[in-house]
Amino acid sequence: MNTDIFTAHESNVRRYGPSFPTVFTKALGATIWDETGKPFIDFLVGSGALNYGHNNPTIMAPAIEYLAGGNILLSLDMYTAAKRDFIEAFVDGILKPRGLSYKIQFPGPTGTNANEAALALARKYTGRSSVMAFTNAYHGMSLGSLAVSGSASTRELGGVARHDVIRVPYDGYANQAIDSASYIDGVLGDPGSGIEKPAAIILETIQAEGGMNTASAAWLTEIQRICRKHDVVLIVDDIQAGSGRTGDFFSFEVAKIEPDIVCLSKSLSGSGNPLSIVLIRPDMDIWKPGEHSGTFRGNNLAFTTAGAMCKMWSERQFTAGVERTAANLQRHLDHLVAKFPKCIEQKRGRGLMTGLKCRSQAVVGRVHDVAFENGLLIESSGPNRDVIKVLPPITITDDELDHGIAILDHALKEQANGD
Ligand SMILES: *Cc1c(COP(=O)(O)O)cnc(C)c1O
Repeated sequence: MNTDIFTAHESNVRRYGPSFPTVFTKALGATIWDETGKPFIDFLVGSGALNYGHNNPTIMAPAIEYLAGGNILLSLDMYTAAKRDFIEAFVDGILKPRGLSYKIQFPGPTGTNANEAALALARKYTGRSSVMAFTNAYHGMSLGSLAVSGSASTRELGGVARHDVIRVPYDGYANQAIDSASYIDGVLGDPGSGIEKPAAIILETIQAEGGMNTASAAWLTEIQRICRKHDVVLIVDDIQAGSGRTGDFFSFEVAKIEPDIVCLSKSLSGSGNPLSIVLIRPDMDIWKPGEHSGTFRGNNLAFTTAGAMCKMWSERQFTAGVERTAANLQRHLDHLVAKFPKCIEQKRGRGLMTGLKCRSQAVVGRVHDVAFENGLLIESSGPNRDVIKVLPPITITDDELDHGIAILDHALKEQANGD
């Protein structure tokens, strides 16, 4: 396999290339193939950006037709038929059935673009400057998002001051004895706490990059209550946990909350095409025309695939399939936890957003390497990189899921024997 050109010319910053040292060509569903024709089951799926699998035929068909038809591709924020169709599909297929009402902002194409817009709007709306963010949070690589992220190396990247962020413990951080919601409620209500009232609280319902830390529904409900009580904007960064990953379209549905602002990206287009939106409580939409901008806000190819994805959520057969696959995955992981107690500490996550907390980074490293050799792509997360992320497509077939889990089982066995 010739990877010389990457070593010679591509920056040292690359991570996943060296981690999976082969050259990929084709992909369908949960399977991707390298140049030699070797198949791999994909449990990384673009870090949650391909929840509907690679080249999902239902999602790609309208895109192929759109491309072949000479239709507009880039449109800034002009009105296009593709954008109209997407908004209609999103409002009718996703928001309305859930009783949700939001204005939709199209920021730049990446997740961090959405978070920056959300933070800017919350600061503008409240006139306050600071934001509360959680331990082990990950919100992206631009300055505002870096500032609210938890990881020391991520935060130091910007090389400039990151003011106006109040760090608070996530649900279950350090030990279950700390009730972080009541701590937050306490400091916000105490004039002697030394903590100024923030513009917003920004959170992930499951911290994927932070190690698949999973907030309880009760905690999420409590945080919403606290935000409303203290007049603080609640921003849910649903960039990785949303768009179907937990089995519901939004990851917060389990808690029946209605955040003031929701950021979506990653799997929103359904196809791996970049697309982000910020959902804004209607009365908070105080943007002036053109006040927030970005060149790539009109990715019409992504609108067509996103629209097709939204329509799938109205089909009972699709939602029932996702539910069943989530239950299968959870059962498989429970089995692995019981079978390999020396390697695995616990299962984490919810629905199809899952992880295996292992005893050490070394365990994860060896499992990763054996899995790759045998045709499975997995990656690690967490501050100590000791959590195996298990993110199969939510549309994965039973055969592909069984096969991927069998390879993971084998890799865990091999690493246990190696000790
Ligand atoms: C990936 C991710 C981001 C950043 O998205 P980009 O498209 O990489 O900018 C932000 N928040 C969460 C929770 C993410 O998983």
